[in-house]
Amino acid sequence: MRLALPIKPNGKIKYLQCIRCGETYPVDDYFEGCPKCRDEGKPANLTFVYAEYGKECPLPYDSYSSLGEGNTPLLPVFDEFPSFYLKYEGRNPSGSHKDRMSAMIVTRAAEKGYEGVAVATSGNAGLSLASYCAYFGLKCAVIATKDLNPQVRRFLEAYGAEIHLTDTPMERWEILKRKKEEGFYPGSNYSNPPVGTVHFGVQGYKAVAYEIVGQLKGTVPDKVLVPASRGDLLWGVWLGFKEMKQADPSLALPAMIACEPFARLSRVLDGEDYTRSFPGETALKSIDGTTVTYQAVKALRESNGFAVEISNEEAEAARKELAKRGILLELSSAASYGAYKKLRKNGAVGEEEVVVAIGTSSGFVEI
Ligand SMILES: [Zn+2]
Repeated sequence: MRLALPIKPNGKIKYLQCIRCGETYPVDDYFEGCPKCRDEGKPANLTFVYAEYGKECPLPYDSYSSLGEGNTPLLPVFDEFPSFYLKYEGRNPSGSHKDRMSAMIVTRAAEKGYEGVAVATSGNAGLSLASYCAYFGLKCAVIATKDLNPQVRRFLEAYGAEIHLTDTPMERWEILKRKKEEGFYPGSNYSNPPVGTVHFGVQGYKAVAYEIVGQLKGTVPDKVLVPASRGDLLWGVWLGFKEMKQADPSLALPAMIACEPFARLSRVLDGEDYTRSFPGETALKSIDGTTVTYQAVKALRESNGFAVEISNEEAEAARKELAKRGILLELSSAASYGAYKKLRKNGAVGEEEVVVAIGTSSGFVEI
């Protein structure tokens, strides 16, 4: 039974535009990104262009399926770091930032008459989409590797999701392609080299930027630290800051800093091709993976940002410190605070700089 919520597209959408070549397209899904760039072997995501920008974050829908995501707290945490704030995304309904994306994706899938949403995930996106699909009366197929956290699996079963387990991460993308042919809306990337999550979903992350500036009473932070793999959140938050500046040119822009478990984005910034594979091992499962995306690289380059590597040990130490302050994050999410400490120590971030670390997900499923 589908919940009869009103779906109202934003009437101020002008068109979609490729973030790499600038080609414009009418609004549609383009799951494999810009067709022109894909044909060149340089996959890149599309983004929405709106007729105007103002104080409110423009989203693809004015009215959509929501479980109350967003408006998460921006917390000072440590007396010794008075310019450091944690954006606590673990406070979203399913426990992670992914809910901002799910609200848009589930609405789009329902609007277009899909019977469900399918997602390749290491955990958080699956939990989020399974929850939002259940609320809206859509099916959800979650595709994960066999080492899926048993606690995550129990949550997924409670939400009534269909679960597929594979031997390797790449096999997940093959099953996702098959589910798409069976009538499921792809709620995550399935291309290799990857594009990122469909542009409808990424739009949901822009609100993080608007909220941060509102919570800092109009101040734009100097740096924003984001745990990243394929960079949906990194790019979405950066888009939010850019759109705010379009509405008010007097606003500053932050430098976006990607926190990654091993060198991927840093190698691309040093000149390697973003479409290649970057092997590495990590316990930070939410930001694992051997690939990067054009959108992640673009966010770092445009904002004069960079990528910082965080080891398992650095993330674990950061998680413990935050938990002692009453904030329980998953290991991958604590990487952003771990990065702050590392950058303060090596001088890349100064004492006076206002820095926001995104605490992407609650640690409740890892305990
Ligand atoms: Zn293009």
